Amino acid sequence: MTESLDIENARQDILSRIGRAAQEHGRTPESVTLVAVSKRQPQDRIEAALAAGQRVFGENRVQEAQQHWGELRDAYPDLELRLIGPLQSNKARDAVALFDVIETLDREKLAKALRTAMDETGRAPRLYVQVNTGAEPQKSGVLPRDLPEFLKVLREAYAFEIEGLMCIPPVEEPAGLHFALLAKLAQENGVERLSMGMSSDFEIAIGLGASSVRVGTAVFGTRAS
Ligand SMILES: *Cc1c(COP(=O)(O)O)cnc(C)c1O
Repeated sequence: MTESLDIENARQDILSRIGRAAQEHGRTPESVTLVAVSKRQPQDRIEAALAAGQRVFGENRVQEAQQHWGELRDAYPDLELRLIGPLQSNKARDAVALFDVIETLDREKLAKALRTAMDETGRAPRLYVQVNTGAEPQKSGVLPRDLPEFLKVLREAYAFEIEGLMCIPPVEEPAGLHFALLAKLAQENGVERLSMGMSSDFEIAIGLGASSVRVGTAVFGTRAS
């Protein structure tokens, strides 16, 4: 009982902070979507967030998302599930079947697998391209310099409309620099939305134009490791 109240309060607190950060930058609170990141969270916390009214959730693995959401999906027609973790091409079909938004498109092989899965299933999740703004070797995402060409291929060869860009800044650098870079890349390349900012830095991201923020621990509490 206490726990579901905690989640309801934490969510309200985050929504207030989102609203304040937006207004401080001349934006409306509605212009920023809270994506509650439910990866590695127990089912009762997910249900508490749903009971509190949360409808947009982020997951970073296809299989875990199927376990979390397989049965809840039908009970909440207005649910929106977003994939925010790396996607292997051989999971593209499962991802297309489950997710409403895929935020981690970052290579042509995956584009091809998604195109096939979308054509076969008739489902069309909205798409974001992940950009590796810090050019970190271990991190997914296209390099900033490769973004224009990649977007051209996605638009022309795969007939994809790209809704937004997504980034995960390097932990040891000021996130704001990366958020500003992502915003600049979006503007230069005619992409409308920006998925950026997490529990520790979502207000900075909103100041730099985030249209969605991905908040996990600040809503749900500490995750299982
Ligand atoms: C886990 C995760 C988040 C949420 O992180 P918190 O620090 O718990 O808010 C956001 N984005 C991505 C891509 C993640 O994997």
